Amino acid sequence: MKKITIAVDGFSSTGKSTLAKQLAKVLGYVYVDTGAMYRAVTLFAMRNGLIGGERDNISALIKLLPKIQLKFKYNEALGFSEMYLNGENVEKEIRTLDVSKNVSRIAEIEQVRYKLVDMQKKMGKEKGIVMDGRDIGTVVFPDAELKIFMTASPEKRAHRRYKELLDRGENVKYVDVLENVEKRDYIDSNREFSPLKKAEDAIEFDNSDMGLKEQFERIHNYALRVIEKQE
Ligand code: C5P
Repeated sequence: MKKITIAVDGFSSTGKSTLAKQLAKVLGYVYVDTGAMYRAVTLFAMRNGLIGGERDNISALIKLLPKIQLKFKYNEALGFSEMYLNGENVEKEIRTLDVSKNVSRIAEIEQVRYKLVDMQKKMGKEKGIVMDGRDIGTVVFPDAELKIFMTASPEKRAHRRYKELLDRGENVKYVDVLENVEKRDYIDSNREFSPLKKAEDAIEFDNSDMGLKEQFERIHNYALRVIEKQE
């Protein structure tokens, strides 16, 4: 069967990664979580005191970009790939609310986007990939055969993220999570370089009131029809 490229974009905590992971698994495709890449660069900047402190030092971060090495390594036991920053497994650390609070500021930087988009394009060269993010259908793979754009109400999304963080043992308040979700939506949608927006040819899914199983079945069937048409 001919392989295609699947781009999954949308607002934060809309279930993009859950859907993208499931699709990749049933189709035998590679799954790439581009948010993890922006989060790892953010963690690097935080650890080096370049963001999140009294004063941001974006120009120093830009100079250090060539020193940031990002790699996904598949974890057989967990069944998904984990993010490595300069050889260190940072999968847990990049998911904290602290990183979420700084990541959209880092993702606005043109040079950061340039570096990460270039890596993402290379990962998708052979097709057979499901990539999730904010600009996959618009910038990374504008020719993707299937583009999905996911939305849900901010409250629904904040509830999901809040539960996720609590389950991971983080001590967070719902109002802080909601504020972070809304703030990231705003910065991600209004930034100058590759803002979050629906590609014209993307199919939109609002899953505020839709179960994950139903959503997956609908999108999976749709993906199979698109793949069949490629023959
Ligand atoms: O998907 P996730 O919520 O982990 O993404 C974290 C942040 O990374 C987003 O809020 C956004 O600022 C940034 N991002 C981006 N472009 C992507 C993926 C993520 O700007 N393709």
